[in-house]
Amino acid sequence: MNYVGSLFLKELFKGLALTGRHFFKRKLTQMYPEEKTPISVRFRGLHALRRYPDGEERCIGCKLCEANCPAMAITIEIGKRDDGSRRTTRYDIDFTKCIYCGYCEEACPVDAIVETQIFEYHGEQHSDLYYTKQMLLAIGDRYREEIDAAKAADAKYR
Ligand code: SF4
Ligand code: SF4
Repeated sequence: MNYVGSLFLKELFKGLALTGRHFFKRKLTQMYPEEKTPISVRFRGLHALRRYPDGEERCIGCKLCEANCPAMAITIEIGKRDDGSRRTTRYDIDFTKCIYCGYCEEACPVDAIVETQIFEYHGEQHSDLYYTKQMLLAIGDRYREEIDAAKAADAKYR
């Protein structure tokens, strides 16, 4: 045991010196939620289904996202339209299962399902975090500009 150090309160003064060194430094505390920290364009948050500029939904119901989802969080049912094209009649994501791995986005051949930079959402019961196709399309519509900007910023690295 270091009796001399204990006698002269060495640890206490070391602690005070550390406090003193940081006392006048620029403070890094962010006043969330008023202040936000920057988020990567690759951030994997709430999912969205995208449309083409003419309003047509991108998803062609190939089910690759569903097949690649390790958490089995995606449920898709497909049907044929009158013009013979294939589209989903059901596209649900259970966010209580989702682990935000991004495999669905990587698997999608038409960039239909994407993960946005939205992280401020919650649910108090299971049904709150069960998103249907209409909900996912609505997110894609509402945040179209942000999603397009993030995709464009990341494109050169892919
Ligand atoms: S992010 Fe991963 S776990 Fe979540 S729906 Fe996509 S593939 Fe499934
Ligand atoms: S979101 Fe993409 S991968 Fe999933 S079913 Fe639609 S087109 Fe296929």
